[in-house]
Amino acid sequence: MENILPVPQHKNKPGTSTGQQFWHHGDKTIDSYSPTDGSLIARVYASTRADYDRVVETAQAAFAQWRLVPAPKRGDIVRQMGDQFRLYKSDLGKLVSFEMGKSFQEGLGEVQEIIDICDFAVGQSRQLYGLTMHSERPAHRMYEQYHPVGIVGIISAFNFPVAVWSWNAMLAWVCGDVCIWKPSEKTPLTALACQQIIQDVLRNNDVPEGVSCLVSGGRDTGEWLARDPRVALVSATGSTRMGKAVGVAVAERMGRSLLELGGNNAIIVSNNADLDLAIPAIVFGAVGTAGQRCTTTRRLIVHQSLLPEIRNRLARAYAQLRIGDPLDPTVHVGPLIDKDAVAGYQKAVADIREAGGTFIVEPGTLTGAGYESGCYVKPCVAEAQNHWPVVQRETFAPILYVIPYTTLDEAITLQNSVPQGLSSAIFTLNLREAEQFLSVAGSDCGIANVNIGTSGAEIGGAFGGEKETGGGRESGSDAWKTYMRRQTNTINYGATMPLAQGITFEL
Ligand code: NAD
Repeated sequence: MENILPVPQHKNKPGTSTGQQFWHHGDKTIDSYSPTDGSLIARVYASTRADYDRVVETAQAAFAQWRLVPAPKRGDIVRQMGDQFRLYKSDLGKLVSFEMGKSFQEGLGEVQEIIDICDFAVGQSRQLYGLTMHSERPAHRMYEQYHPVGIVGIISAFNFPVAVWSWNAMLAWVCGDVCIWKPSEKTPLTALACQQIIQDVLRNNDVPEGVSCLVSGGRDTGEWLARDPRVALVSATGSTRMGKAVGVAVAERMGRSLLELGGNNAIIVSNNADLDLAIPAIVFGAVGTAGQRCTTTRRLIVHQSLLPEIRNRLARAYAQLRIGDPLDPTVHVGPLIDKDAVAGYQKAVADIREAGGTFIVEPGTLTGAGYESGCYVKPCVAEAQNHWPVVQRETFAPILYVIPYTTLDEAITLQNSVPQGLSSAIFTLNLREAEQFLSVAGSDCGIANVNIGTSGAEIGGAFGGEKETGGGRESGSDAWKTYMRRQTNTINYGATMPLAQGITFEL
């Protein structure tokens, strides 16, 4: 790990960067503790307001140059970044695992997402297409073109500490924008590592200082970005509470926001499901990343005829789960991010019991050897009702609610009856059921899957959700358009001045 970090371990690290340079002025630090063993792994200097302003000014100046670089050339620079991440995949994956607590395999998967979006963005750099239209006026030509928006502020969450930055930054860069990243205060070190990994590429290609910027800090630093009219687009990933604040702040100044917020994702298990497919998808969806994915399966809407079998099979599957050090390859479930998250889990468990819920798989917190950080909890499964407040909210922990249904209409209504709208799935081998779930009267989520679980999206598709999930779309498909402004152009190559809509104006 040492070779990718900007300064030796256990020394305070500067948390502000405009690309090739790192610096700090203030004395405030952010402490990064590994949830795996509770150790302090880094102190990162938080950016001061003066640091932040210098970053924005440098980014503004960089934008004036970067937007003039041909898009395929920008794509080639992103391609070289992808090569760097290939080189450091294992080191960075391990650091993600250690700082955030997800399994090493998932840490590697997260770095693979960076590599994948780099590849995608390279292709995109040659496909920033606009349309041409036929003008209603003779000797006129109409078309639309896309220009970069300017500075893109990226506020990211702890649970995907590096991938979410790359989904935004790689696309923004090929579009001609410059980026200022404000990572989660819970995972500041992985952000420094990413900035370090791309340094040689920035330097070797004479990329202007300010194209890739990093500011470190908590909510205040995020608020600077949200309120700053110099920041054209704010892409914010995190809780719905945060998104509501950012959305209002950005809208107040008529800026553009891309919000990727909380989910409350359900799988419908029909009586026509292949349970051998469904059970592994449910268990991975519910306990992967210790239930700390935005796409984690939180609700299981089960045909009532299947309830006894589902109870048995889930109990058997959960009994095999190994909880512990995420860097141990035999472990399935690592720690929660911190003790606050454990308190959130315990509160949800208490609320379930108070509402009258019963547990198919019992909850608990783990103590003793190997669990000294105090962040390890047992994945649990409860029988619950969809309208209970505890079920309606997103608890970022491995708690799965089992909810019975009798008709598919009822199941779809239950699936949609939560404030969030990120990911959803149905397990069925019945074509009519699958199509009803995907139809206009089906799932209301941004992601709707058939015979695969709710988590594990591929970067080729647009990623995001509806309702309180925020409505943003990132990553693949035409998500790039969010990072650009559209301009409609009409050119008169004739010798007369006909007005639109047949209007005459005699002089
Ligand atoms: P969080 O909301 O606590 O913090 C996310 C980021 O927002 C951090 O960088 C934080 O410093 C910043 N922030 C907090 N309040 C802010 C404010 N008022 N103004 C500006 N910035 C502010 O979220 P978290 O605990 O880090 O992450 C978990 C949440 O993120 C979950 O709700 C999860 O579902 C969501 N998430 C969503 C997606 C998605 O794509 N939909 C992806 C990952 C995580």
